[in-house]
Amino acid sequence: MTNKIKYFIGNWKMFGNLSSFKIINEINKFRRKFKKISSRNKVIICVPNTLIYFFQNKLKGKLISLGVQNCHQSKKYGSFTGSVNASMLKKTGAEFIILGHSENRFDGESNKLIKEKIQSSLDVNLNIIFCIGETSKEKNNGKTFSVIKKQIKESIEKKFDINKIIFAYEPVWSVGTNKVPKIDDLKKTIKFIKFVYKKIYKSKKTPRVIYGGSVNSQNIRTFSSISSIDGFLVGRESQSSKKFIDIIKNYYK
Ligand code: PEP
Repeated sequence: MTNKIKYFIGNWKMFGNLSSFKIINEINKFRRKFKKISSRNKVIICVPNTLIYFFQNKLKGKLISLGVQNCHQSKKYGSFTGSVNASMLKKTGAEFIILGHSENRFDGESNKLIKEKIQSSLDVNLNIIFCIGETSKEKNNGKTFSVIKKQIKESIEKKFDINKIIFAYEPVWSVGTNKVPKIDDLKKTIKFIKFVYKKIYKSKKTPRVIYGGSVNSQNIRTFSSISSIDGFLVGRESQSSKKFIDIIKNYYK
């Protein structure tokens, strides 16, 4: 395990109402109580748009950052019924935004569209959690690396500030399925993402790469052996303060 800051990011998906703030409150209490552990990581909870303003106001001065989960690509207001853009989310209190999630790719989001969303989010100074990963068919056909490379190449530009982007490797077959990659495969893929970013953009900077897909308080022990993973994107298990806190506790056990 390294001394580098690790990210524990919750993706609440379509979950929560105003009273769900108690989950954040419990996580916050844990961070206050266990200062030594907390100094080694950053916790970000990505909530539905309906909650960001209320939660951000309640959270002032606290130890958790808040994010949202997708936006419309248009930088300006427009006739896009039901949508909100990055600027509206930023002004409402979001600091982070998940983009390229497989559940949104499944609804038809292309790499090109995701790039527009990344650009519009960076323009308003949001931090990006950029999800990439292969489907089970692509994995079985040995295409994991080529798929990931294409997703990065087609959605990221050299001019994008890599300090504002966290790559989240989320194999599609692992999200919501309770299946996780073999440790050796995961190690290789994390290494590949860091390598391929530097290669494509001729960059000396190593991007942060986190893992997401069915992370829980049990399997986190195994993942903690891979020091190159910069953190975790946790879906369902972040909807419970106990489960999320247990993930953090067990990581440092
Ligand atoms: C996610 O939604 O990003 C995710 C990783 O979900 P889960 O942890 O439920 O697999």
